[in-house]
Amino acid sequence: MTLLVDTAPGADGLVVQRCGLWGYNSIGVVSGDEACAVDPGITPEEVLAFRSALESGGRRVTKVVLTHSHHDHIRGWQAFEGAEVIAPSAVANKEAGPRERILAGKAKVDERLGVEDAGFRYPAVDRAFDDHLTVRVGALDLELEFLPGHSNCTSVVHVPALKALLTADYLVSPGLPYCRWEAASFEAAHRRLRELVRSAGIERVVPAHNDLIDGPAAALAAIEEELEYFTALRADLARRLASGDSHEHAMRGAAKFMGERRGVDLGARARQDRDNARRVLAELDEDQSK
Ligand SMILES: [Zn+2]
Repeated sequence: MTLLVDTAPGADGLVVQRCGLWGYNSIGVVSGDEACAVDPGITPEEVLAFRSALESGGRRVTKVVLTHSHHDHIRGWQAFEGAEVIAPSAVANKEAGPRERILAGKAKVDERLGVEDAGFRYPAVDRAFDDHLTVRVGALDLELEFLPGHSNCTSVVHVPALKALLTADYLVSPGLPYCRWEAASFEAAHRRLRELVRSAGIERVVPAHNDLIDGPAAALAAIEEELEYFTALRADLARRLASGDSHEHAMRGAAKFMGERRGVDLGARARQDRDNARRVLAELDEDQSK
């Protein structure tokens, strides 16, 4: 693990730790003698190291924000004793079935990593929000905004004073959107991100995986890539269906087309193209049955 971004004790800023798995970023917002941990992960050792970085110079971690309930994002929530745990209501109110699936997914990864984490529980959320919540960390306001699309429970964190936008699993790999729920909501979320970057003068986007995006031009370009991806995928699928392709055939054909369009071989990660195609297909079906 490495610290991609650090902020000296007493100053306001971000602390970003890159984990060993999935290019995962644990993100901290620090101000004065306070710190907030956003989606701390992944292994217990990495969470401990992240906590040390946040607590550097006597800072206290007073808040843990969970952007959504996917298992890579909730792994470290118990490691900050006394901190208030904050998450969207859709995370707090997740039903038993989905909770079990999330915990099973986590256990599988633990086994693969050789991690013992018997005391782990699904997050107990102290403060939940429906659409929007402002929380204070030191001298900084954090604007938490519910923005479903990647999942049905995803939110993002905007820190106006830092001109920073923590986008959770949005913009983790521009050109290969990670839509795990609804394509239309995913696209709507990106139009909202675009509005935020433009209106709030965002200088730095910090996704939960992979590289940070610096500058508004790069942020807007990344958002456009995601939106154009879905426009192209939708058009290609509609064309295939109109020419009489079966669903399965159209899905495979469109996924292959999206890979060729990208012009880069992403190996197993390109499975996501099929997933995205399936989600768009489901929506095209729904439109037709209206
Ligand atoms: Zn996720």
